[in-house]
Amino acid sequence: MKGPTRRKPVAPAAPLKGTCVDLSYEGKGVVKTEDGIYFVPGMFPGESGEIEFAYRRTGVAFGKVRKLDVVSKDRVEPRCKICSACGGCCFQQYAYEAQLRHKTALVKEQFRKVAKTEIDPLPCIGMDNPYFYRNKIQMPFGKDKKGNLYCGFYKEGTHVIVPVNTCYIEDERAKLVLEAVKKLGKSFRIEPYQEDAGYGFLRHVLIRCAKHKDEVMVVLVTASDNFPSRSNFVKALIKECPFITTVVQNVNSRHTNVILGEFERVLYGPGFIEDILCGIRFRISAKSFYQVNPIMTETLYGKAIEAAGLTGTETVFDAYSGIGTIGMVASKHCKNVISVEIVKEAVADARKNAKANHIENVSFYCGDASSFMVQMAEKKQNVDVVFLDPPRKGSDERCLNAICKLKPQKVVYVSCDPSTLARDVAYLKKSYDLISVQPVDMFPHTQHVETVAMLRLKDSKK
Ligand code: SAH
Repeated sequence: MKGPTRRKPVAPAAPLKGTCVDLSYEGKGVVKTEDGIYFVPGMFPGESGEIEFAYRRTGVAFGKVRKLDVVSKDRVEPRCKICSACGGCCFQQYAYEAQLRHKTALVKEQFRKVAKTEIDPLPCIGMDNPYFYRNKIQMPFGKDKKGNLYCGFYKEGTHVIVPVNTCYIEDERAKLVLEAVKKLGKSFRIEPYQEDAGYGFLRHVLIRCAKHKDEVMVVLVTASDNFPSRSNFVKALIKECPFITTVVQNVNSRHTNVILGEFERVLYGPGFIEDILCGIRFRISAKSFYQVNPIMTETLYGKAIEAAGLTGTETVFDAYSGIGTIGMVASKHCKNVISVEIVKEAVADARKNAKANHIENVSFYCGDASSFMVQMAEKKQNVDVVFLDPPRKGSDERCLNAICKLKPQKVVYVSCDPSTLARDVAYLKKSYDLISVQPVDMFPHTQHVETVAMLRLKDSKK
């Protein structure tokens, strides 16, 4: 007879000695231990010491630093004292120059690994002052035992809120709004929504701040439309924060991780804010995508337009166009622009933006970029340059295939995910050569990086 089966321990009991040899795609230290590889947040290459087991997910072990024996020369004192617990800024303890070097290397590595392409990206362009840059802030709310509201970020992989009072990467006006919502929320007896129980009212507060105009939008995301003290709450909020220019209620009654729901009600002001980017005025509604780092967006678009090498005669296609930003900036340097975006509110913003800026050579279509690209290829439409700026999951084979048929001279791919960028570039390689890769640090202190890649049609003269 067999003896009782012994379960393998899920966690090694004793602390482990380890050395950090690299940083993972998610910005965690890759730590070699006698028990194999552990992914450890807040540990940087060259460091060694004691770590302890934290959890295992899909066969991968994650650890926590217990004690460092060897400390990296790139380790710095973080401004934010809760950056380790919050998990939003995995690199606040890593010197900014080292972050930029890491991001350049990460982009190179993705091209090597995923696209089997050796390319040296240009050095990642960083910010002069990499703090308080985020113009969009969204936080879930909770309530403590004394009935005080708090807000913060979800601890990685959980629905547990890590309370945050000051966030060093967010526009400083957001803090004032969140303080006011916490205070008023208590006096108006607003119940924060509890994800797991599906009970409560206030799900998230989303704040959007214009960089170049004094405009701030507050979106109260609620689980139901029924908001009894609606107008008094809004009046009190504006009194606390007179710089708020518009308040929107967004109703999201679904059991989902998606923050915004379909239904919206403007409670105060025009329902949108306006900002200025590359000299153009843009109106932005709650549901429209707008880049989160307005300072680096100007650098990013500048690099994208430069890569396109526009001379004034080109027809440009702006796919995944949001509120029309890249296309409108490009419109000054080319003959005409065709823009496609799937969110109808963003397309409505884009049309109004073009009108307000007296831009007449851009046309906007609402639809799926791939289907649109396929139709353009079928019609053998002439396009000289394609800008692609898809969401994190990247583009798809239908779209990329249609580009190879359409044969624009250049494809300028703007991406917030180097892995899907490299995958899509590998697909385009049958018709295109990869000419240049420029990472831009849109998200200092986080693991994310934005990249502009320029591809030229094979055997093209231009
Ligand atoms: N170029 C814009 C937006 C980039 S974000 C800017 O720089 O601001 C990516 C955009 O792609 C979002 O606006 C999103 O709504 C849109 N999108 C997502 N899937 C799409 C699809 N299948 N077809 C067209 N647009 C899509």
